Amino acid sequence: MMGSGRPAHGGIVLKSPREIELMRRANAVVHRVLEEMRGLVKAGVTTGALNRRAEEVIAASGGTPLFKGVVNPHARFPFPAALCVSVNEQIVHGIPGDRVLNEGDIVSIDCGVRLSGYCGDAAVTFGVGRVSAEAEHLLRVTEESLALAVREIRPGRPWSEVARAMQAYVEGQNLSVVRDFVGHGIGRQMHEEPKVPNYWDGQRRSEDFRLEPGLVLAIEPMVNLGTHETKTTSDSWTVVTRDGRPSAHFEHTVAVTAAGSDVLSDGRTGPAAGSSRVERQGSK
Ligand code: MG
Ligand code: MG
Repeated sequence: MMGSGRPAHGGIVLKSPREIELMRRANAVVHRVLEEMRGLVKAGVTTGALNRRAEEVIAASGGTPLFKGVVNPHARFPFPAALCVSVNEQIVHGIPGDRVLNEGDIVSIDCGVRLSGYCGDAAVTFGVGRVSAEAEHLLRVTEESLALAVREIRPGRPWSEVARAMQAYVEGQNLSVVRDFVGHGIGRQMHEEPKVPNYWDGQRRSEDFRLEPGLVLAIEPMVNLGTHETKTTSDSWTVVTRDGRPSAHFEHTVAVTAAGSDVLSDGRTGPAAGSSRVERQGSK
């Protein structure tokens, strides 16, 4: 889930190693939910059924859902569910309900959990059964753009260099990067400074930030098959592509370390021996 309308920089809170381990535990619950979803996503299942199962898993973990009750100044009501479930042309913030998944759909499942006062946030886009070759390409490139960001992170680098590399890769694959929504710092709050764009073309220098150990980011590329333009639907939450073509979304919570990066939401129980790597989440 993305923030909106907050200051572009300043107020960044670095996390201690102990806090990062607490964030890894919150993210382990998110990872468990998304792995459960991988097994449940199939034709005939409703998006509401996915959300009900996610709420059970989160409650059993002792955590609380991050998204439920979130207020967005542009929306008519607080977000009503633990998951954002966004199908096909829906980019993010889809509300789970009666919609039935069909063979060939692609479905982004975004989950956030607070555990022991710290937040975890991650998303995966799954294919439902067999998907078209262009949808397959979209999923592969979006997931790879996240993996690329993880590999490019190292202390001392400005984020703009990572964002440029993500954008160049995606556009080189004839796809487009969403601009209207971006990733975010994360810690005790789901949305902390800084804003974490997946593109860099014409932003002000003041919107850039330097990567340093203890910075924890929710990096979440949203990639469209058509143009990057978005609009919000009449439910006041769901964001869709303006041209109606499909969109994919992958997200990890990632800590910057002295050696590079440490993905907190990939299900590992401790820091990697090496660094700057990401397990493929794989699309179903
Ligand atoms: Mg998310
Ligand atoms: Mg997020």
